[in-house]
Amino acid sequence: MAATPPAYDLAIRTDEQRIRKALAGAARTPFWLEDPGRPAPQPALNGSTETELLVVGGGYCGLWTALIAKETNPSLDVVLVEGNEIAWAASGRNGGFVEASLTHGTENGRRHFADELPILDALAAENFAGFEAALTRHGIDAEFQKEGVLAVATEPHQVDELREAVTDGTTFYGREALTALVRSPLYRAGLMQHEGAALVHPAKLAWGLKAACLRLGVRIFENTPVTDIKDQGSSVRAATWAGSVRARKVALATNGFPSLLKRNRLLTVPVYDYVLMTEPLTDEQVAAIGWTKRFGISDTSRQFHYYRMTSDNRILWGGYDVVYHRGGAIRPEHDQNPETFARLADHFMRTFPQLGDVKFSHAWGGMIDMCTQLAAFQGRAMGGKVAYSSGFTGLGVAATRYGATVMLDLLDGKDTVRTRVKMAKKKPLPVPPEPVLYPAVQVIRNAIARSDRNGGRDGFILKAANAFGFSFDS
Ligand SMILES: Cc1cc2nc3c(=O)[nH]c(=O)nc-3n(C[C@H](O)[C@H](O)[C@H](O)COP(=O)(O)OP(=O)(O)OC[C@H]3O[C@@H](n4cnc5c(N)ncnc54)[C@H](O)[C@@H]3O)c2cc1C
Repeated sequence: MAATPPAYDLAIRTDEQRIRKALAGAARTPFWLEDPGRPAPQPALNGSTETELLVVGGGYCGLWTALIAKETNPSLDVVLVEGNEIAWAASGRNGGFVEASLTHGTENGRRHFADELPILDALAAENFAGFEAALTRHGIDAEFQKEGVLAVATEPHQVDELREAVTDGTTFYGREALTALVRSPLYRAGLMQHEGAALVHPAKLAWGLKAACLRLGVRIFENTPVTDIKDQGSSVRAATWAGSVRARKVALATNGFPSLLKRNRLLTVPVYDYVLMTEPLTDEQVAAIGWTKRFGISDTSRQFHYYRMTSDNRILWGGYDVVYHRGGAIRPEHDQNPETFARLADHFMRTFPQLGDVKFSHAWGGMIDMCTQLAAFQGRAMGGKVAYSSGFTGLGVAATRYGATVMLDLLDGKDTVRTRVKMAKKKPLPVPPEPVLYPAVQVIRNAIARSDRNGGRDGFILKAANAFGFSFDS
C-alpha cells in the first residue's frame, strides 16, 4: 500500500497555472510598509556629533534600546543611527507574531538553557507584560491583538505531541472541536496558547516606537550607516559615511547584518524567510474557513508555516523554506524567491481549498539572524563601552525588547538577573566559515525535510548536530 504523502513537502501539487495566476499581480514589496502612516525618514547625519549613548540600528532592538534608555534617564543624550530607513528590514517585514518565549520554545530552551528555564520563562513573561504596557503608555497603535496562537497538527505524530504539550494556559482541540475555530482538511488537532502570544502590525510597531523615541528627545539619523567603530579609551568613535559619532557607550542592534565587532561575525548567519499576503477576503470566504478571531496559527513540523489575519481580512502566509545564500550574502534581490513563493502558494491552497482562487497581493522576503542556539545572545566589548544583542533567529518581535534591556544593564555595569544568565555570558557556537557553510546548510536542510517526512524522527545528521550543540528544532 502506498504511504500517505505528508501534508506539506517540497513538491508542488497544485496546478502550476493556477499558482502563476494567483501570484501574477502580487507586488514584490512588504505589504506592511505601504501604509499611509509611514513616516518620512529623519535626515542623515552630516558631520560629527557626540553623545552619551549611541544606538546603531533602527529596527525594534535599537528603537527599544533608545526608548528604554530615555525613559529610565530623561536627561541622557541618546543618538540612534540607522543605515537605511527605520523598519525597512526584518522589523518592517515580519509576520507580526509577538511571542513571549526567549528560548524559541521549550524544547530548544531545555537543550541550551536547561538550568535556567524557569528564570528565562519568568523574564519572558515580564518582558511580554512590559511590551504591552509600553504600547499603552506611549499610545502606540500597532494593532496589538492578544487572542493567542494556535499550533495545528497536520501529521499523525503531531497530534500526540500537541496533547503532551498541554499546560495551564493552553487548550487542546481534537479534529472536530477545532472546526469551531478554523477549518482546513489538513488539520488533525490544535493547541491554543492563550498567554504570552499576540499579533501586531509590524511596521506600525516600529514607527510607533520611533515616534515615541522622538517625543522623548532621542536624536535619530536615518540613511546613516556606521562603517567602523574604534575604541578611544574613554569613548568609542563610530565612523559614518559623512562624519562620525563619539559616544561614551554604544549599543549594537544590527541583527544579522555584518557585525561591527569582527569577532562576532561567525556567531550569526543571515538566512531568508518569505511570506505571501492575500487580497482581503470577502465575508463569504472568511465564513468558509471559519477563522473569525484574531489568533495566529502555525503548524508544528520542523519546516513550519505561520499565518495570521490582518485588520482588513487578508491572510499573511509565511515560513516553511528558510534559505541561506552562498557566502552569507545580504542583497535586495534575495528578498524575492519565485520558487519559494510558488511553494508557499501551493501549501496555502492545500490548506484552504475552500478559498478557491484567492489572489495574492504581495510577496516578499527578509533576512533573519540565525544562530546555533536558536535564541538571542548578548555581550560586551571594548572594556564594557559596547554591548550587543543578536541571534533572535526569526523570533524577535518581543525578544528584541528583552535584548535591549540586557544591553542597557551591561552598559551600566549592572549585576541583574538578566546579566547573570547564560544568554548574556556565553556566546553560541560559531558557524563554520565558507566554503564549508553553504554545503553544510544544504545537508542539514535535507535532513530536516527527511525528518518531517519521517514522523519527526531525527536521522543520524540531526542527532550528530544536536549532540554538538547545534539546534534544529522549530
Ligand atoms: C519574513 C520574516 C518574518 C518574521 N516573522 C516574525 C514573527 O512573526 N515573529 C517574530 O517574533 N519574529 C519574526 N521575524 C523576526 C523579527 O522580525 C526580527 O527578529 C526582528 O525584527 C529583529 O529586529 P532587529 O532590530 O534586531 O533587526 P532589524 O529589524 O533587521 O534592524 C536592524 C537594523 O540595523 C541596521 N544596521 C545594520 N548594520 C548597520 C550599520 N553598520 N550602521 C547603521 N545601521 C545598521 C539595519 O539597516 C536594520 O534596519 C521575522 C523576520 C522575517 C524576515
